[in-house]
Amino acid sequence: MAAVQHFDIIVIGTGAGGGTLAHRLAPSGKRILLLERGDYVPREKDNWSTKAVNLEGKYNTKEVWRDAEGRELHPHTNYWVGGNTKFYGAALFRLRREDFWEIKHWGGLSPAWPISYEDLEPYYSQAEQLYQVHGRREEDPTDPPASAPYPHPPVSHEPRMQQLSDDFARLGLKPFHVPLGVMLDERNPRASRCIRCETCDGHPCLVYAKADAQVLCVDPALEHSNVTLLTRAYVSRLETSPSGRDVQRVIVEREGATEAYSADIVVVSAGAINSAALLLRSANDKHPQGLANGSDVVGRHYMGHVNSVLMALSKCPNPTVFQKTLALNDFYFGSKEWEFPMGHISFVGKLDGDTLKAGAPAIAPGWTLELMAKHSLDFWLTSEDLPDPNNRVTLDRAGNIVLSYQPNNEEGHGRLTEKLKNLMKQQTKCRVHGHECHEGLFARSLYLGQRIPLAGVAHQNGTIRFGRDPKTSALDANCKAHEVDNLYVVDASFFASSGAVNPALTVMANALRVGDHLLERLK
Ligand SMILES: Cc1cc2nc3c(=O)[nH]c(=O)nc-3n(C[C@H](O)[C@H](O)[C@H](O)COP(=O)(O)OP(=O)(O)OC[C@H]3O[C@@H](n4cnc5c(N)ncnc54)[C@H](O)[C@@H]3O)c2cc1C
Ligand code: SF4
Repeated sequence: MAAVQHFDIIVIGTGAGGGTLAHRLAPSGKRILLLERGDYVPREKDNWSTKAVNLEGKYNTKEVWRDAEGRELHPHTNYWVGGNTKFYGAALFRLRREDFWEIKHWGGLSPAWPISYEDLEPYYSQAEQLYQVHGRREEDPTDPPASAPYPHPPVSHEPRMQQLSDDFARLGLKPFHVPLGVMLDERNPRASRCIRCETCDGHPCLVYAKADAQVLCVDPALEHSNVTLLTRAYVSRLETSPSGRDVQRVIVEREGATEAYSADIVVVSAGAINSAALLLRSANDKHPQGLANGSDVVGRHYMGHVNSVLMALSKCPNPTVFQKTLALNDFYFGSKEWEFPMGHISFVGKLDGDTLKAGAPAIAPGWTLELMAKHSLDFWLTSEDLPDPNNRVTLDRAGNIVLSYQPNNEEGHGRLTEKLKNLMKQQTKCRVHGHECHEGLFARSLYLGQRIPLAGVAHQNGTIRFGRDPKTSALDANCKAHEVDNLYVVDASFFASSGAVNPALTVMANALRVGDHLLERLK
């Protein structure tokens, strides 16, 4: 192995956490090394092919994990510069203020975070600026207070979505515009980088108009000469000093060789599953259960939300191109009849026949897949799952990832689905068919079965939780490992609970917060 090269800071992973942190740290002049196991997503027409992306899984990792029973798992996750933000739907929500508190759910308690919403609020505003979020405050009844307006106006609804929004409003609900990180300028379409296409959610953006961590954070960070990025650099292990109090060497597999790097500060941001696996793989005499894992929480409390895709079929076609503009949070904390949280209703990108084929779904009587896709409104329902210590990441003997998960807190999700069913029956705004336009609601996982299955790890979080008590958490409130003085984690691992909105903006805001802490520490 060549001599160990030393940096001020090493960041492992360039997604929502690592990429955003790199952007915050880059202007400091500190010598920063970014280690990313993936490469840049190639820019090619297949970026926008639903067949290549959804049916063939062209950009998914080919890594095979196992479930608790030892069955093969082909995870729907992506190893590239920018991480999963290259593929995300860019719905950039703040957690609700109450999500930071202890909340009683049907299935148990959602624990409090060691920081408050107010601690993170300034960083949410900064993250919204950085990721160019388009939205409108005060439409969403559960929106927490914000110190700044959204930097850009909301992405408008296309006519079918506006019709649905009007139907919901007539029923006394508060439909709102999804806060979105797309570089769309509807007032000046000729200059707009985003062309508002149908292949956004789940796809990389061919024209670099999605607000992802590569385009907005990693590439600008690399303009600073003090920042170095190594791609195809898989971090296999972290080694500590003899006392176990510091990470001394970061071991990297690159181009068939093993390399080692060192830094004053090492930040792990490999995604909640891979970061936990890395710490577990790094067990040594001083950390026999895995690095920074005296509490035995590393890998545990895996959460990924209770998610469903539901297709509402109408007699009239749904010609919407960019569907992910509308959402409902009226049932987020419950309803008059049900005192427990239910979750969040929004949309996936418009489904098409190729995407539906990927799930080999049952076909509604009298319909073909193509016809169903042409007539469907494609809802995305998210409910909170609770941190169960037995839902966890472990390693098999060969060091491969094993993901054990039993869904919990499902009653609220079922009730949310029932709510949506009832709402859809009450639509009246179709000028041709009135309320008879709605044909029914079909559970339609993008993959197999009714729910998003275990391999759908898009919202993974919670596996290296932060907290005040080193007995029940691995990280302190600054996301520093309780047991290792120079080790931080800034991906979605730190979540103490998952809330029921998409996680990325919280990961980004927290990375900016930890970035400020590190700049202070390194002064
Ligand atoms: C299809 C899809 C749609 C989504 N839509 C939304 C949405 O609309 N809104 C939202 O908020 N969230 C969405 N998400 C989730 C969002 O993308 C994630 O919450 C977010 O990217 C998590 O950030 P992270 O930093 O934890 O991990 P990631 O972004 O996954 O980054 C982890 C990085 O670490 C790298 N890495 C992993 N292991 C190693 C290793 N050993 N060595 C070196 N590098 C390593 C990976 O290659 C990757 O680049 C979506 C996800 C998917 C897949
Ligand atoms: S052009 Fe706009 S809508 Fe299309 S993928 Fe890019 S960001 Fe998304």
